[in-house]
Amino acid sequence: MIGTGYVGLVTGACLAQAGHDVTCTDRDEAKIATLAGGGIPIYEDGLAELVDHNRSQGRLRFTTRLAQALEGAEVAFLAVGTPQGENGSADLSHVLEAADEIGRAMGGPLVVVQKSTCPVGTAVRVEARVRLALAARGVRHPVAVVANPEFLREGTAVRDFLEPDRVVVGADDPAAGRLVASLYLGIVPSERILLMDRASAELTKYAANAFLATKISFINDIAHLCELVEADVESVRRGIGSDRRIGPAFLAAGIGYGGSCFPKDVKALLNTAEAVGHRPRIVEATEAVNREQRERQVAKIIRCLGGDLRGKKIAVWGAAFKPGTDDMREAPSIEITSRLLGRGADVVVYDPVAMEQARRAMDARVQFAPDALSCAAEAHALVLLTEWPEFRGLDLGAVAACMADPVLFDFRNALDPEQAVRSGFAYFGVGRMPGIPAHLAAD
Ligand code: NAD
Repeated sequence: MIGTGYVGLVTGACLAQAGHDVTCTDRDEAKIATLAGGGIPIYEDGLAELVDHNRSQGRLRFTTRLAQALEGAEVAFLAVGTPQGENGSADLSHVLEAADEIGRAMGGPLVVVQKSTCPVGTAVRVEARVRLALAARGVRHPVAVVANPEFLREGTAVRDFLEPDRVVVGADDPAAGRLVASLYLGIVPSERILLMDRASAELTKYAANAFLATKISFINDIAHLCELVEADVESVRRGIGSDRRIGPAFLAAGIGYGGSCFPKDVKALLNTAEAVGHRPRIVEATEAVNREQRERQVAKIIRCLGGDLRGKKIAVWGAAFKPGTDDMREAPSIEITSRLLGRGADVVVYDPVAMEQARRAMDARVQFAPDALSCAAEAHALVLLTEWPEFRGLDLGAVAACMADPVLFDFRNALDPEQAVRSGFAYFGVGRMPGIPAHLAAD
């Protein structure tokens, strides 16, 4: 496993659990030292136990040396990052560098599995780079590259990997495709393994993420309409999500999508299309709506607080881009807090898991509180940005009582508006009618 991040570590641990002999490697020495020493570098439900178990069984090992990881390996997974590059294109430098390293280090026949999310044509490029490095050594080990994109979600990554809806295997070499498919046979029934060509497999990943992002932007657009026509998006969501043709998933109105995948993958899909002269207009709109969604919610805070945030303390609950993870990549909280600071507010953040990561990712002027209640204390507004279960279990009356002004912006529609209002809050969700307690409404 080359690259031991969210995807590489989960894939490595789950394949070890399925009985395979896995060595994870990474160029990040600190990460490997943590793992080799019995620790775990990321927060992901069930992962620490899975890593521990397989490490102790001797099926899961860690090294910074690629050559050591490749010794005797039949298959090498590429799970390195593909961050956003120039013009929204995927930055393939890590993937292509790793391909060179494989070519320099491999000692026999090898199937390379492209697990990273990569644009159409990358598997062909990876194969060419490995062959070039082999040629430079004057050796001719057989090599095939198979595209096997990953669909796990952070927060439920282990479960997603072990109980996938499908496994996509894109191979132009049928034997290599069969070998990769066989790795999953202990995990998923064979009818859920979808064999296809490499370009289709590569595009499947981007099309899936663009579609899910589109569902989010669609419901956010409808949420805005709800606010204008005095309808409730949560009712509309139930009304449409119960239709089996539509389904309830990814229809939660909120602050818009973030995270390490959707923003960059939507941009990379647009970039791929542009390169061949096509404009996918629905995906363009998905991105535009997502951008506007954040701006709209910041405008909502400013408007509801009387137009001037100077000298106001704003408490923020939740920093991670979603619950169940400590990942701060492209978390909406980064932009929202920086916009609030830009308007002169004092911003205090609390997150149950991602405090260290948030400290590194956010503007240095952001302050941090050790718990939800002290975060809200003396604040003029409370903004919920990540729907951690902890926030649903709190005594809202006690929270409202400790604030300077009990104003709640629930930008994940995570709390019950009526209960919030009964607890003394002025409540503003997304696509829901504002709830103003009687004593405030009378002012
Ligand atoms: P990550 O940043 O958590 O991990 C990538 C790792 O690769 C890092 O630890 C980095 O040090 C290492 N690395 C980079 N170059 C290397 C090299 N040459 N040799 C060894 N190690 C190297 O990234 P991630 O979130 O795991 O994502 C990996 C890929 O999977 C991306 O293409 C991403 O789009 C895709 N993906 C991610 C998710 C997710 O939820 N995070 C889900 C599906 C697909």
